[in-house]
Amino acid sequence: MAVDCCADESGEERMRTGRSGQELRVGLGGDVVRMHVGRQLGELDEAAIGRGAGEAEPGLLELGPVLIVDLVAVAVTLVHLKGSIGTGDDRAFDQLGRVGPQPHGATEVSSAIDNLGYYFAPDPASGKACSIGGNVGENAGGPHCFKYGVTSNHVLGMEVVLPDGEITWLGGKALDTPGLDLTGVFVGSEGTLGIATKIVLRILHKPEAVKTMLAVYDSIDDASNSVSAIVSHKMVPATLEMMDNLVIQAVEQSMAAGFPLDAAAVLLIELDGLKDGMEEMADEIVEICKENNVREIKVATCEAERAALWKGRKGAFGAIARLSPNYMVADGCVPRTKLPETLRYCKEIGDKYGLRTANVFHAGDGNLHPLILFDSRNPEDKEKVLKAGMEMLQVCADMGGTVSGEHGVGIEKAEAMHMVYNEKDLLAQEWVKDAWDPKDLANPGKILPQRLIKREEAHVS
Ligand SMILES: Cc1cc2nc3c(=O)[nH]c(=O)nc-3n(C[C@H](O)[C@H](O)[C@H](O)COP(=O)(O)OP(=O)(O)OC[C@H]3O[C@@H](n4cnc5c(N)ncnc54)[C@H](O)[C@@H]3O)c2cc1C
Repeated sequence: MAVDCCADESGEERMRTGRSGQELRVGLGGDVVRMHVGRQLGELDEAAIGRGAGEAEPGLLELGPVLIVDLVAVAVTLVHLKGSIGTGDDRAFDQLGRVGPQPHGATEVSSAIDNLGYYFAPDPASGKACSIGGNVGENAGGPHCFKYGVTSNHVLGMEVVLPDGEITWLGGKALDTPGLDLTGVFVGSEGTLGIATKIVLRILHKPEAVKTMLAVYDSIDDASNSVSAIVSHKMVPATLEMMDNLVIQAVEQSMAAGFPLDAAAVLLIELDGLKDGMEEMADEIVEICKENNVREIKVATCEAERAALWKGRKGAFGAIARLSPNYMVADGCVPRTKLPETLRYCKEIGDKYGLRTANVFHAGDGNLHPLILFDSRNPEDKEKVLKAGMEMLQVCADMGGTVSGEHGVGIEKAEAMHMVYNEKDLLAQEWVKDAWDPKDLANPGKILPQRLIKREEAHVS
């Protein structure tokens, strides 16, 4: 049986049933539909994958026929602006209303509240395309997360459909709720504990002033060392983003962002906050960069220049298409001081497999994104790129870092969890999963590697 359930503009449910295939597609919209999904998840006993905009989803296609819950419609019912903003509550909740078929990504949320003087801090570079539900699923980060923290720091509560179909609330509208932090457990669980259908977001006042600079380097090490030096001088810029020469080439071919083509690396540094003291902070950062052999520092003198720099940074992943038909993102984290070494090792791994690597990443967070370029039409390339990706994650783990910064573990990196967790750690996480989802229906196979707990041991009927 195929069930196709979605909502129209008024949130009313339309439901069609058919007889073809084993894949069930369910779209969520208004409350009525949410109830139906709850019932379906509860009654069908089918494994289900929550799908936002599909910007993360490592491994989706490998699962085979499952119930796919299309969460894009959910994402457009997340934010309600009336009554809370401007009254001192500083949070957005419930329904903004359906504004179109596009997913409600972080960028759209910030645009919607911009004229009220607020914004939503987590800003994944994919913000225009991804959904807030997906950001919650992945605990997404972004350039501004260095100063402001990732999605989990900006979600106060959620309505969720649990894997057995029950609809409940985690957290709420208060800054803190007593008891165990179940909202924290849910954020970043990649849809393995259920589906968020309403999300209460913490929003921030827009800063009084912003200053954006581009520091240009002849060596990646100098750029990386500048990042550590800035932080060790107790400076907390809003962003510290790095791009290497291959990325610069790709960006400049695809748009004029103003990145020098011969630079080994550039750092995009943005300061925000009160006007008072900002010039002094900028001067101090310039000095630190000079001590680390910066070649040149350009300061954006107007909004158009700032926008061009950001367009270059946010368009960097897409621009890589100029260089290669495909790329794989190896998303891992290392302590900032280990950046130069880690980048060198990643390049060596790429070279070993004859694959080019390009780097654009959240340097302030030590969150690397080696983009491994390949051609999927070549089966050998596919095998090599997966091996190279795993080896790069191992390097991150060996450096004292971890195997996912923000893009999630999914299926593809589940085995990499062994690089950072021992059996006891993994078992502890499995018990949490089993408590929420004893039948393993929500996003089965994601995050946790080969299950250690036998079902009967987990007291599952
Ligand atoms: C070009 C590019 C740039 C990127 N830049 C960044 C970046 O700067 N920072 C960053 O963090 N990520 C980045 N990403 C990764 C990706 O965009 C994020 O992980 C994003 O949060 C995924 O959102 P989505 O709507 O596409 O989710 P999907 O890929 O559809 O889903 C992601 C996971 O969340 C689960 N999920 C989806 N909706 C819900 C829900 N409502 N409730 C519970 N679980 C749910 C899904 O089941 C899945 O496991 C980038 C990706 C691309 C392609």
